[in-house]
Amino acid sequence: MPSYKVAIVGAGPAGYFAAQALQNLQTEELQFSIDMIERLPTPWGLVRSGVAPDHPKIKTVSKVFEKVANAGNFRLFGDVELGTDISIEQLKEMYDAVVIATGSAIGKKLGIPGEDLPGSISCAEFVPWYNAHPDFHETDVLLDCQTALVIGAGNVAMDVARMLALEPSELDATDTADHAIAALKASAIREVVLSARRGPEHAAFTSPELRELPKLEHTNVFMAKSDIEAAVVRAGSEIEKDTRSNLDAMLLISEKEATNHDRTMKFQFLATPVEIKGNNRVEEVVFQRTGSDERFSIKCGLVITAIGYEAASIPGIPYERGKVVNNEGRVDENLYVVGWAKRGPSGVIGTNKSDSTEVMKLLVEGLKTAKSNGDITDLLTDKSHVSQEKWEAINASEIAAGEPLGKPRKKAVTREELLSLGGI
Ligand code: NAP
Repeated sequence: MPSYKVAIVGAGPAGYFAAQALQNLQTEELQFSIDMIERLPTPWGLVRSGVAPDHPKIKTVSKVFEKVANAGNFRLFGDVELGTDISIEQLKEMYDAVVIATGSAIGKKLGIPGEDLPGSISCAEFVPWYNAHPDFHETDVLLDCQTALVIGAGNVAMDVARMLALEPSELDATDTADHAIAALKASAIREVVLSARRGPEHAAFTSPELRELPKLEHTNVFMAKSDIEAAVVRAGSEIEKDTRSNLDAMLLISEKEATNHDRTMKFQFLATPVEIKGNNRVEEVVFQRTGSDERFSIKCGLVITAIGYEAASIPGIPYERGKVVNNEGRVDENLYVVGWAKRGPSGVIGTNKSDSTEVMKLLVEGLKTAKSNGDITDLLTDKSHVSQEKWEAINASEIAAGEPLGKPRKKAVTREELLSLGGI
């Protein structure tokens, strides 16, 4: 009975769904042993480092990941980096198939003057900062100003704006990084402007995210009714269901009776950013009214762009336009790609389930004679790694530390802290 060795690189949702798909495709005649390789000491990818901490329900999918990890024939190799600790050539040589599931970690740039001024950062730095990602705890987030601008009209921009505009004590009962809660409690920001270059009818938010905004207890949420009504007219009668639902949700927000909290989250549409200005740090952003020559500016001390992501490249893997070059998930004879690294940064976590399943069917079709020339443990003789058992120790310590504080977990932040919780 052949047992095929598959290495999955990247322990995020797409990687776990790929492992789950392989487990589901197993028969008596077709068996897999799965090694999941992750550069961080912790798995779960965006479920740990991306999902907003005030959305704990979305994170319950981690239970599925742990079930996959404990289903047998699965090993975790955390704190092991492809491209430095091991190479793609070595993996391809040893494994019957290698699956890249490394996501897209680099924030896209606007490409406008002033974007590199202090006070201008990307969601790709801000989101992992508040989520205790070990590489981002030192990100300099300038919160000493009255107004912050968030550029982009997708769910990430929404998360970023909400995290800045929430009453920070609402984060006490979440797994937000301690350093971020402390910084947000000291923050001077009282107005957060979320700015979209197109109209409300083209916004990339999903409607559940819009529908939760009127429920915020300590934040004023403002959308101009005239903006939404004009969008309804432009959208016309042959309108897609999702757009209709978004516009309905936006109308509700725009019609809600004004509240008088300390903090405000405000939406601006049809505003294309053209320049970020400031003397040694961000002071204002100049916009062009989309579709006209009119210019206006907004004074602010912090700008966070949330306009999409690109995959960070790994030596030995072909990339084009921020993605791994692939044909429906196949890269070459035994190399595959899933998730955002495959299709770009789109879709919710569940989107990866069907996507990874399709690619794993392709992988099975491409299998040849099972290899018998070693595995990753032959390459890691001088290096310790975070096994599933060690990860479970880290996980249990974080949960135990959070319990007396009423948090789902208290996250360790640095690599050293995380490794020591794992007994490494
Ligand atoms: P997204 O949904 O693709 O939104 C990107 C936004 O950036 C769009 O509004 C786009 O506007 C804008 N944009 C792009 N280039 C721009 C530029 N040069 N100047 C100004 N604006 C620009 O991406 P995302 O927000 O990063 O989210 C990624 C995926 O994760 C999405 O599928 C999202 O739904 C998902 N996600 C889901 C949740 C959740 O379920 N709660 C949370 C977070 C993320 P145009 O349309 O005009 O290009």
